[in-house]
Amino acid sequence: VRHLEYLLSSLLELFYPERCALCEATPQEKSWCRTGRAVAGLRAWDRPHLCRDCLTGLVGEPLCGSVCVDGGPPLPIVAANRTSGELVRLVGAWKYHGLRGVVWPLATLVEQAAGALPFDRDEETWLIPVPLHPSRLRSRGFNQAAVLARCLADSGSLQFRDDLLKRVRSTGQQAKVSGQTGRLQNVSEAFRCREAAPAENRARLFLVDDLVTSGATVSAAAAALRLGGWSVDGVLALGMATAATEPG
Ligand SMILES: [Zn+2]
Repeated sequence: VRHLEYLLSSLLELFYPERCALCEATPQEKSWCRTGRAVAGLRAWDRPHLCRDCLTGLVGEPLCGSVCVDGGPPLPIVAANRTSGELVRLVGAWKYHGLRGVVWPLATLVEQAAGALPFDRDEETWLIPVPLHPSRLRSRGFNQAAVLARCLADSGSLQFRDDLLKRVRSTGQQAKVSGQTGRLQNVSEAFRCREAAPAENRARLFLVDDLVTSGATVSAAAAALRLGGWSVDGVLALGMATAATEPG
């Protein structure tokens, strides 16, 4: 099977040579991002599709902010960088154009940002990906937030939990809904907590998402978990729109 996969990747490389998703350079022209650890769902022919120069351009100081959550303390958000045109294009290539291997460089961005979150390795820390509605998950084939959360969990002593939170209503693409109020209405009651926290629970939960725009989605997700008695302490994201959140 391995030989067959190698043959297929070689043929693919011959007819569709890999190019950087941002600058369109080939691996022969520039230094390239490496394929890293094993990631569930990646196929033998998936490649990183990003040159080192473009990855370096996406690395910045982690961006910190916060968003209000219904009836609870504000939720701190840490993102690898502000949402730039390049980051949107790269995430779009990953989510909508089948370049699944882009997750390798993207995961390194999130890992760097995770250092800015108040993770306490002595306590139980759970990473909760913001779920997709089942119909969206079927059409895309993967949940980008879950892939990132799993990469992060694998690289540290953090637990990955995708069974606590459920998306019960398809909300349409947040990016197409304009205005903070519209976005908040669009996601309210979109999430449900599937399991109440046990009385002796000590776990601290952190949500993981790809791009945080208004913060309405992560706020609704956190509200649902808190309603279930869980302690949600923060959000980790790839990118955050600076205008949407208050500096924290
Ligand atoms: Zn490039």
